Amino acid sequence: MKYYSFVKEARAEQKSQIDMSASLKTGPIKPIICCFVFLSLLTSMAFAQVTEKSEKPKLILQITIDQMRGDFPMRYKDRLGEGGFRYLMEQGTHYINAHFQHADTETPIGHAALFTGTYPAHNGIVAGNWFDKDKGKVIYNCEDDRYPMIGKEPAKGKGRAPTNLLSSTIGDELIISNNSQSRMFSVSIKDRGAILPGGHTGKAFWYSKSNGSFESSTYYYEDYPDWVKHWNDNKLADKYKDTKWELLDDASTYVFGKDDDRPFEIDMFGLGTTFPHQVKGDSKYFYASLIATPFGDEITADFAKTLIKEEKLGKGEYTDFMAISFSVTDYIGHVFGPSSLEAEDNVLRVDRLLADLFKFIDEQIGLDQTLIIVSADHGMCEAPEYMQGLGFEVGRLTSETIVKGTIKNGIEERLGISGDVIRLYEHPYVYLNEEEIKKTKYSIAEVESAVAEEIIKTKGIIGAVTRTDLIKGSFAPTEVNMSILNNFHLKRSGHVHVVADQFWYFYYQMETTTDIAAIHCSPWTYDTYVPLFFAGHGISSQRITRPVTPYDIAITIANYLEIKPPSGSIGVPLVEVLKE
Ligand SMILES: [Zn+2]
Repeated sequence: MKYYSFVKEARAEQKSQIDMSASLKTGPIKPIICCFVFLSLLTSMAFAQVTEKSEKPKLILQITIDQMRGDFPMRYKDRLGEGGFRYLMEQGTHYINAHFQHADTETPIGHAALFTGTYPAHNGIVAGNWFDKDKGKVIYNCEDDRYPMIGKEPAKGKGRAPTNLLSSTIGDELIISNNSQSRMFSVSIKDRGAILPGGHTGKAFWYSKSNGSFESSTYYYEDYPDWVKHWNDNKLADKYKDTKWELLDDASTYVFGKDDDRPFEIDMFGLGTTFPHQVKGDSKYFYASLIATPFGDEITADFAKTLIKEEKLGKGEYTDFMAISFSVTDYIGHVFGPSSLEAEDNVLRVDRLLADLFKFIDEQIGLDQTLIIVSADHGMCEAPEYMQGLGFEVGRLTSETIVKGTIKNGIEERLGISGDVIRLYEHPYVYLNEEEIKKTKYSIAEVESAVAEEIIKTKGIIGAVTRTDLIKGSFAPTEVNMSILNNFHLKRSGHVHVVADQFWYFYYQMETTTDIAAIHCSPWTYDTYVPLFFAGHGISSQRITRPVTPYDIAITIANYLEIKPPSGSIGVPLVEVLKE
């Protein structure tokens, strides 16, 4: 039952009891006393029920599962346990057609969009890295050297803060709404998965791939809270030394049970490509290797639960906000592919992890006092070799080959100018060197056009839209082109946005291995598709098929809490969540 209707009924019940007591005034004395005792009991029970629940939830718990494509929970529905995804599907509101509408479906962009309720065009997180004109270098989305890691010497490019995020988040708005009476925390394996959801006013913690602790920067704290020091001293990650990631069930019960070892899978961190995956305790990559096994999410959940307990979230007068991003699904998808035995086992394990987390929340705060939101930062594409096996003529493209080879040569031949006018490629943009262009007879717009025309000659590249055309609005308003516009920020986006065709692998050349198994970062539906669940706090059980976007989440929470939406919000309130 929706909470508000519960309140109405409880109030109606009280009113009828008061009416009853009035009508009893003329009756015999003894029954009146009995009735009063009985009625006052009833009334106090009714009041107790009302005062126990507040109108607003005690806690907002927004979970992001990195790379959890929209179909994954449904794909394995029959084999899910109790209390995890099935709780969300069966007792929550499940939107089965939620798609992002920005072209570069990357982790920081998705996380920023989920919590600011808007596109990169407004919140400024346009890519994983972008070329900063003023600084004259490529910067990382959460980089800010004014804020070194706590307890560490400042190091170039190692400072972390949410200062590149230009919009407020829903958590920021909650904090502003009551003059910092609410509290906001954010936890993830990835720094960007914690920092961007945490917004400007939250406290963010993320996993150290070098020592297995959770760390933070001086943006958030001068020194770690005692409970964080204590958690880190316990060295939970070390308990996974020399363990094995084994299948939860017999391989024959899995959709991909017969396909454990396929040529495109990567032996990352020495984990191997088949079950059981051995975690090598003496490897220098030990702590890093945990992020590509379900153990990474288990460690994250343990830290998050400790945080909720120690910071007494959901215990105060005001609504608190907790963001948790589970990153393992993303690493596993990249290393083994989204349609692999590893990815399948991982979804079943994420299901168990959620069930355990929801049980914890129920015991600590109450699911009826907690508004739960679950979604993802992006979907995922299949490995191109897997698609080739199904008859698709697709392949692998690396941006370095295209930019350093095809485009530079093409520009030199076509315009008779040096290839140095191409500065670099940072997905999804080609950045030009404007100073070099000024030395030629061509305008920046002319070089942009020439670059775009050269790029699309490459097999597998289907789109290249220039900065000038985006500013002037001179492009065909197709869905993909509109998503490129939504991704475009005047001061951060590059000169040409490049789009590979469907199912083509298009990314950087990897330094550690030849390639990874599979990649996202495209505007195609497999990459834009994410799950979207609202649950807890009296949310109705329903499955909604109408198309929605994850940008809708922030404004829906704002309406739910009766506060203003984030500054750049473009989402539409989800009426199914808000209706009484
Ligand atoms: Zn990824």
